[in-house]
Amino acid sequence: MSRYIKVFFLFIFGGLLFSAFPVTAQTKDFTVVIDAGHGGKDPGALGSSSREKDITLSVARKVGSLIEKNHNDVKVIYTRKDDSFVALDHRASVANNAKADLFISIHCNALPKRQNSPQGVETFILGLHRSKDNLEVAKKENSVILLEEDYSEKYEGFNPQEPESYIIFEFMSDQYLKQSLHLASLVQHSLVHNSGRINRNVRQAGFLVLREVAMPSILIELGYISNPNDEKYLKSTTGQNSMANSIYLAFNEYKRDYDKKNRIFSNESSKQPQNTISSENEIEYRVQFLTSSRKYETDSPVFKGLSPVSCYKDGSVYKYTYGSATDLKEIITILNEVQLKFKDAFIVQFQNGVRIK
Ligand SMILES: [Zn+2]
Repeated sequence: MSRYIKVFFLFIFGGLLFSAFPVTAQTKDFTVVIDAGHGGKDPGALGSSSREKDITLSVARKVGSLIEKNHNDVKVIYTRKDDSFVALDHRASVANNAKADLFISIHCNALPKRQNSPQGVETFILGLHRSKDNLEVAKKENSVILLEEDYSEKYEGFNPQEPESYIIFEFMSDQYLKQSLHLASLVQHSLVHNSGRINRNVRQAGFLVLREVAMPSILIELGYISNPNDEKYLKSTTGQNSMANSIYLAFNEYKRDYDKKNRIFSNESSKQPQNTISSENEIEYRVQFLTSSRKYETDSPVFKGLSPVSCYKDGSVYKYTYGSATDLKEIITILNEVQLKFKDAFIVQFQNGVRIK
């Protein structure tokens, strides 16, 4: 058989194989970098009895382990997993070298005067500050580079204390702005409505660490360590668990949207008709509001008028849930409604009808 005929057969069979087994849309593995602010010789902001670096590390590890436990297709990279000092540019290069898909930096805010300290959560994306407050936050967080040798050279003459240094952020086009803003809104919403933090909104400012990463990125200021109420919450295990869970729930939502877009894109590029995305394996949220050893009728007065109520059995205990949504914002709205009747209600996740813990 001549070479040309062989090539011809390969072509025909290749074509047949291709049409018999259409390329299925696969989502690629996803990498998220969790960046615990400060560490080692840099304690970050100081509260009356706690340090920013300890809170950020604890929350970062909790977020990471929730993601690792529940997403087989996601690789979690930590910029630090212990109390060590990591230079800002190194944090960014860890993410860039891994070609990460997402960068989440975790911090706590502070003002010098404790008596006037505000409280609440802020989620930042990269950009020029629109207010003096935002500039001050960026100045404070960027000042950690003063602890690094050759910072002026490394960061091309950037002086964290000089307002002029920040002008550059006005001219930077952030190609990841849209995705960063999407994640920031989800995280902010989740921390406010799921963890009950005071809302200080999504903001923009010139954070060096965000400038250096080539992927969608956010920087969360979990709360004010200089505010007694916030500090109490920030350093508590309950608070840290709740905040980590809120960030994780927002990540879930972001990842779900990412997968959807990625699949549609793959379908289009392989010229396959668009498939509707199967609801199989999709995460479903419900609001759990009651646990009891008794099985109640669906119209029982113990549900305080909530209807329809679902029930699942966990060991010997019946657990009652209300509402169902695949959208985080939607379930948070339902949660707020349920909490008017059952104040300890919380969000649980199901996959294929089974509770995921
Ligand atoms: Zn910080």
